[in-house]
Amino acid sequence: MPNSAFNVPPGFCSDCGSILPISKQGPIVCYACKRQWGPEVLGDMAITYTIHMNSTNTYQTAKDSNDSEDEAEGPVIDRRCPQCQNDKMSYATLQLRSADEGQTVFYTCTKCKYVSVYSAIIIVNT
Ligand SMILES: [Zn+2]
Ligand SMILES: [Zn+2]
Repeated sequence: MPNSAFNVPPGFCSDCGSILPISKQGPIVCYACKRQWGPEVLGDMAITYTIHMNSTNTYQTAKDSNDSEDEAEGPVIDRRCPQCQNDKMSYATLQLRSADEGQTVFYTCTKCKYVSVYSAIIIVNT
């Protein structure tokens, strides 16, 4: 077992349980506690956790046409859009209300409005 404070799925910081930014190269730095991780911390999640949202979801997403370019919400981070290769995506989190420490993170491309959704249940060691 890894020596960590949290049991977390790939892509989450084992020190504080926060979701980690996804990066294909270089160290991955936790947003919350600034700990650096190697790329292995992500496992396969960069692929398996990515869901291209469609019209069946319950969230409001950008309309497909005649939108202005400034609908991005939240902070913009250096994250490459898998669709148009733009390297800026806005970042927003949604804390679920359930007792489980669920966390959902939305990345929205600032250019083409592609949305990646990451969600996971964080299981805290007790
Ligand atoms: Zn952390
Ligand atoms: Zn894009």
